[in-house]
Amino acid sequence: MLNKQYTNMLQEKDVIFEIFQYATERAKVVGAENIYDFSLGNPSVPAPSIVNETIVQKVKTLDPLALHGYSPSFGIMETREKIAASLNKKYGSAYKAANIFMAIGAAGALAHALRAVTNPGDEIITFSPCFSEYKPYTAGAGLKLTIIPADIDTFQINFAAFEAQLNENVSAVLINSPNNPSGIVYSTETIEKLSSILTAKSKEFHHPIYLISDEPYRDIIFEGVDAPYIANYYKNTLTCYSFSKSISLPGERIGYLAVHPDCSDADKIIEICPQISRTIGQNGAASLMQRTVADVCGCTSDLSVYETNKKILFEALREYGYHCVEPGGTFYMFPRSLEPDSQAFCKKAMEKDLMLVPGDIFGCPGHFRIAYCVLTQRVEKALPVFKELAEEYR
Ligand code: PLP
Repeated sequence: MLNKQYTNMLQEKDVIFEIFQYATERAKVVGAENIYDFSLGNPSVPAPSIVNETIVQKVKTLDPLALHGYSPSFGIMETREKIAASLNKKYGSAYKAANIFMAIGAAGALAHALRAVTNPGDEIITFSPCFSEYKPYTAGAGLKLTIIPADIDTFQINFAAFEAQLNENVSAVLINSPNNPSGIVYSTETIEKLSSILTAKSKEFHHPIYLISDEPYRDIIFEGVDAPYIANYYKNTLTCYSFSKSISLPGERIGYLAVHPDCSDADKIIEICPQISRTIGQNGAASLMQRTVADVCGCTSDLSVYETNKKILFEALREYGYHCVEPGGTFYMFPRSLEPDSQAFCKKAMEKDLMLVPGDIFGCPGHFRIAYCVLTQRVEKALPVFKELAEEYR
C-alpha cells in the first residue's frame, strides 16, 4: 500500500518549483531575456577554480580504491580535522575533529541534529520567516514544529512571542542566520538574549534546550554587518553548515554538523549520528567531496555580486515605495507585498514575467521573497518592472 504521509505531501504544492517551472515554460514563448526570474536560491557564481583543481588533483594522484571507497561513518578524519582547525582559526572556537560529523549538505546535517537531540513527539521552535523545508524536516523526525510570528520591523527574534511559547516539551530551538528568506543576520544582542533565555529555561525545565543553528549562508555577510558566530554564545549549540552556497556546490551535497565541544552530551551526539544515518539511509557524504572540502574549507566563491545586487535592488525598491528590512547577508530580500495578500501580489508580478515567491510558504504572509542570485544585468533590467508594479498600487 502506498504511504499516506508522502502521498498527502503531493497535495502541498512546491510553490517555488511551480514558479520556476512556469518561468521556464514562459521563456520558451517570450524569450529568456524577457523573464525576470527571482524564484530559486541557486548560487549564480561558479565555485572557485581551486575546487576543480583540487578534484582533478585528487583523481589523478590518489589510489582509486581509497578515493572512491566508503567513507568512515563519521566522515574522513583528515577532513574533520581540517574543518575543526578552520573554524577555530576563524571564530576562536575549540572544536576537535571528534566534534565534526560530515553530512550530505545542510539538509543532511539538520536531519542528524534534529534526531540526535529530540525524541518523536517533542516540540521544536523556530522563527518566522523561516525556510519552507523546516516543516518536512521536522515532521520526518516526528516533531511538533511551532513557528513564532515575526517581528516584521526588524526580522530579529520576537522574544515576547517566543517566551510565551517556550515550555518544558521543547527540546530544541532551530534558527537560521543569515536568514532565508529575509537576508537578515541576527545581531550579537539578539543572540545574547536568546542564549540567556535558553540557559535560564534549561535550568528551570531540568533539561538542556539545544540550539540548532542552520548556517548555509554564514559566509555571505555584507560589509559592516554584525555577524556573531552563534555557537560562541551558547554551548549547547549544534551548527549545521553547507558548502552549497559559500563555494557554490549545491549539487555536490556536502556539509557538516559541528557540535560545540562543551555541549551537553557532545560526544554522545556525534556517536549516535551514524546510527541516525543508518536509520534514514543517509550513510556518509561522498568521499571525493569530503577530500576536496578538506583542502578548500575557508575559501569562498567570489560572493561580491550578491552584495552588489542587494545594493542596487534595495535602493531602487525603496525609491519605488516598497518597504523592506535591509538584508545583512545571503542573496535574498523579503519586502512587504503591496497588498495584504502576497499570493495575489506575486500573481500580479507574474503577469509581468517577474517571478517572486509569496511569503506564506515561509510562515510570513504579506511579504515576498526575491532571490537575487542572478547576474547584475538581470537585476538592472528588472528594475522598471518592479517600478511599474508599484505604480499599479498607487
Ligand atoms: N537551510 C536553509 C535555510 C537553506 O536555504 C537551504 C538550502 O537552500 C538548506 C538548509 C539546505 O541546504 P543544502 O542544500 O546544503 O542541503
